Amino acid sequence: MLGDKEFHTVRLDSDRCKGCINCMKRCPTEAIRVRNGKATILYDRCIGCGECIRACAHQAKRAVYDPFDLIHDYEYKVALPAPSLYGQFHNLDDINVVLEGLLKLGFDMVYEVAQGAELISDFTRKYMAGNPKKPVISSACPAVVELILIRFHRLKENLLPVIAPVDVAAKLAREKAVRESGLPPEKIGVFFISPCPAKVFALHRGLGADANLVDGVLAESEVYFRLLDAMKSVKNPRPLAQCGIVGIGWASSGGESAGVLRDNYLAADGVENCISVLEEIEDEKIQDVDFVELNACPGGCVGGVLNIENPFVAKARIQALRKYMPVSKNNLKEVPHEKDFYLWNNDPEIMPVFKLDQNMFVALQKMQKVEELLAGLPRLDCGACGAPSCRAFAEDVVNGLVPESACERREKKG
Ligand code: SF4
Ligand code: SF4
Repeated sequence: MLGDKEFHTVRLDSDRCKGCINCMKRCPTEAIRVRNGKATILYDRCIGCGECIRACAHQAKRAVYDPFDLIHDYEYKVALPAPSLYGQFHNLDDINVVLEGLLKLGFDMVYEVAQGAELISDFTRKYMAGNPKKPVISSACPAVVELILIRFHRLKENLLPVIAPVDVAAKLAREKAVRESGLPPEKIGVFFISPCPAKVFALHRGLGADANLVDGVLAESEVYFRLLDAMKSVKNPRPLAQCGIVGIGWASSGGESAGVLRDNYLAADGVENCISVLEEIEDEKIQDVDFVELNACPGGCVGGVLNIENPFVAKARIQALRKYMPVSKNNLKEVPHEKDFYLWNNDPEIMPVFKLDQNMFVALQKMQKVEELLAGLPRLDCGACGAPSCRAFAEDVVNGLVPESACERREKKG
């Protein structure tokens, strides 16, 4: 349900889970435990990055998104395709074929998220000129924003306090749909076609922006198979595309930075690389960079787990498509210039999920207990106890989640 703060985008199918611990070892926020042969997710730590879905060879982890047929609940249907969608098709030389295909699937209007991205690129350039705290960290990847909120609290003030391209596209698309259809807003359904679970998570919960900007979030992988058929019958596509190189460039790592038009930027992708960069910023080791673009998925949004294609192939295809496109199609006279249109109106809150206790005194006592326990553990981080590291195991013991005896290799007292 949209606006549900408890919404979770990754689910476990216990019947399929073999307890192999692969997902637990890969989760960047230690959000997984494997107990009694089955994985469980500590949802307050989950950032929706999808690493566990990538790691599970048994398809026991899956992303949650809205069913395609939800679009039929609305009289007028609007599709918001992410730019990564264009990289999924073999031999595509014109993105208008994809946009026409979406109309054939039953949508009445298509509004590209890449258009929203171009507007944000423009707004970011102005924001950077205002001398904000450096480096400014992009807020476009919701998994990275969540990571900062739960693990790098001090860096929240470096985040670009701007809504996502899909939020901008959704607001403008709904206004346009009301104008063109003459229908009241509640009869209009706006649907994002997402490359990753983190964006499903962000839109359902409302990260930075209101949660009701879209009426549903569909998976790129599901729409892809429907589109394959629909696109076959597109012979002479109309020039529907409204984005340029800047907008579709956001599909892969470095694209957003290129749109900011600054030389001293840093772009990293893959959640472990993002964590290394955030640690270095926190330790003030990165000081000569103005803008930092971080994408939790390998290669950027083209690497999201709801895509079909290998991220490197998708990136190459998008690069080829860019050849025949203008730099940007932003007609700045027709788009909103007010600052408030772009800035967060729903300030994301820091979540101290790694604190051992809300009471500082009790937390210090627990920390001491953790250190004592750790001294008797083999520090192998083997995962046999069902926790991702010996430290995580000691914390679980101190928090009463698991008995000390769950580690068979610990030094026995007495
Ligand atoms: S990777 Fe995780 S969810 Fe998949 S089988 Fe192994 S323990 Fe279970
Ligand atoms: S989606 Fe990412 S953060 Fe959430 S449980 Fe899976 S690996 Fe961990």
